[in-house]
Amino acid sequence: MPLTSVADRLRESMWRSANDKRLKRLKRVVDAMPATPPTDLTALDMGSDTSLAGFLAAVGEAAGRELGLPPFPNQYQAAAALLRGASIELATGEGKTLVGAMAAAGWALQGRHVHVLTANDYLAARDADWMGPLYRGFGLTCGAVQAGQDLPERQRAYGADVTYSSVAEAGFDLLRDRLATHPNRRTGARREVVLVDEADAVLLDEARVPLVLAADAEPHRDEHAVALAAYVRGLEAGEDYVVAPDRRTVNLTDAGLRRVEADHPGRDLFGTDSEFLVSLNLALHAHAVLERDIDYLVADGRVWLVSGSRGRVDRLQRWPDGLQLAVEAKEALGSAPGLQVLDQLVVAELVGGYEQLVGMSATMRAADEELESLYGVQTVVVPSHLPCRRDDQPTRLYATSDQRDAAVAALVGEASGDGRPVLVATQSVRESERIAGLLRAVGLDCVLLNARNATEEAAIISEAGSAGRITVSTQMAGRGTDVVLSKDAAAAGGLLVVGVGRFASARLDGQLRGRAGRQGDPGESVFLASLEDRLVTDNDPDHPQPASVDGDGQVEENRANRRVLGVIDHAQRVSDGDQRSLRWLSWRYGELLRVQRAHLAGVRDTCLEGPAALERLAGHAGEEIAELGERVGQDALEAAARLALVAAIDATWSAHLGHAAELREGIHLRALAREDPLSEFEKEMGAAYQGLAEQILDDAVATLLDAPVVDGRLDLESLETRIPSATWAYTVTDNELGSDLTRIGRSLRRLMSKD
Ligand code: ADP
Repeated sequence: MPLTSVADRLRESMWRSANDKRLKRLKRVVDAMPATPPTDLTALDMGSDTSLAGFLAAVGEAAGRELGLPPFPNQYQAAAALLRGASIELATGEGKTLVGAMAAAGWALQGRHVHVLTANDYLAARDADWMGPLYRGFGLTCGAVQAGQDLPERQRAYGADVTYSSVAEAGFDLLRDRLATHPNRRTGARREVVLVDEADAVLLDEARVPLVLAADAEPHRDEHAVALAAYVRGLEAGEDYVVAPDRRTVNLTDAGLRRVEADHPGRDLFGTDSEFLVSLNLALHAHAVLERDIDYLVADGRVWLVSGSRGRVDRLQRWPDGLQLAVEAKEALGSAPGLQVLDQLVVAELVGGYEQLVGMSATMRAADEELESLYGVQTVVVPSHLPCRRDDQPTRLYATSDQRDAAVAALVGEASGDGRPVLVATQSVRESERIAGLLRAVGLDCVLLNARNATEEAAIISEAGSAGRITVSTQMAGRGTDVVLSKDAAAAGGLLVVGVGRFASARLDGQLRGRAGRQGDPGESVFLASLEDRLVTDNDPDHPQPASVDGDGQVEENRANRRVLGVIDHAQRVSDGDQRSLRWLSWRYGELLRVQRAHLAGVRDTCLEGPAALERLAGHAGEEIAELGERVGQDALEAAARLALVAAIDATWSAHLGHAAELREGIHLRALAREDPLSEFEKEMGAAYQGLAEQILDDAVATLLDAPVVDGRLDLESLETRIPSATWAYTVTDNELGSDLTRIGRSLRRLMSKD
């Protein structure tokens, strides 16, 4: 839409009511923005008047009229920053949904298509529904994508000016579009502007979680994994291995290592066969840490780590391959149907496909350098419209986790007794169950929130602000919904947020604290940590011991304890740094594959219609193909060439991905051998890609010439069945498992340095 007609439209609908005085005030508000990054304001010049301020006046009017939400001054500032291309930090409860919609309307009026990405389906539907009248006020449309929708429904949702969707659905749709066998089987999503809600969580915390499309494949049985599963069953718990108290990790003891060495003579565990030790660790993890029906289910002869809308094919999660295999071996499912990964992507690839990326969250600033270096995102901090009245207490540090747990129970009991709502946040699902059990054991009634049913989540969180209510949750649960205080609860001092242990980064701590004290509410936050927390044992195992603790085991605030009191912050910095380098590393590992994928997808696109596919194949094996053409006719030949080529491209890419995964799994071991694993990886994958083109053409020609010809007609249907269809869509998780190969690599390195 040309800009002049945007201006006309604005003037027609909303403009008249935005009088001069209001406009001037808005211009002042916008000009008073904290330092905005340099932006292209001309892109927003909507004709005459004061452009951006003019649009904001109109959209503000519409928000008041259509939604009953006249924006606060800081919401205008936030929307202006977004429209200028910056990402925003805005505290929880300040109304990011409306801000996002104001900006989205601005982009859409410039004729740009907008995708608003939320944490889950529930929020996508809710926000589209809630903000719909605002868009309609401007003659714009909006739609929401939901899991389980069929293609026409998705096409409708993507056909709207503004489309709300979860990150996962947007990713799966991009993958499906890439694998479509005909242009009209695509969603039609136009990837122009993407606005990511909870941007730091999506772009950083979940950045390494791949979204995967897979097809059913031949059963496979890994004898090695099966043998190891049997072997670890014979090891003695407590003797040969110990499971950490939080039940998240298992480690071989020195005695265990000696036993493994003795049982496998000829294996050089700390040298050439270190890969064996990795597989053994995975088998042990599957055996000793993961429990059937708690951590995973066995259904239809498969092991599934189930989440989301229960039992739904669309939203499954899997572990990284090695661990998945180990669990399958443990459950003796070796002959279960396998999965063939067709294509996958991480969120970086999804958001990188848009012309423009902006984000919003309550905790952007703490990560702004990383967000800028990875995604080129610049952040502006927008002040709250009311001053924050939340009281953030310093962390209380206890010597042992038992002492800390007792202190948590006491604190929660007291606050709840005073009529304050309490939100207890834990580090993992297991931990949340443990803490809930503990509270119930001392007679404290609590609601446990860790199931990932988003609809329930929203309901539980919206109740979490009533007087005396105790809610125990995991960190990410209930994202995007507000804890609204009841009158009594506010009078009693507002929400108390209790963190059981500090999180892996200060930013995550901040996300949690933000639950309390929304929109000027009273509130308080405090973390209770212990020296036995994983944050400490993982990242600062050689910390100093406290010189003195009080009667409850809390490390006393005095000079002698100065160093030990700093342990938590130190461990958190180490952990944060580790996470950051991991993200950087996976980004680098992914880079080459992303380029290769984009290139191949481009080739594939040109082959979906017309004679391009046939021309490519004819260039490869002209004579035989010409001869086939004489028998079946040109049209049939072109159609068959398209199918054969697409089938070959998809199969070859799938194999290439498999190769990359294998290489990566093994390559960290080369790091131990002091080779540069990344450049090794790139060298090998680069060379492998060189060979793909030839192989694709060979395969496609063979398929084409193999196709049955019945009565002078080519059997296109049988060719179509050669293209594997994506029956599975899932995410791969290594959350909460601590089985990450890097951890194993780390412990291996420790072991080796002992010698
Ligand atoms: P955030 O995502 O920033 O935490 P939400 O978008 O969920 O916040 O909004 C929080 C609450 O604030 C909602 O209940 C919403 O109705 C309310 N709200 C937002 N903007 C306004 C406004 N301009 N006037 C009144 N209430 C508002």
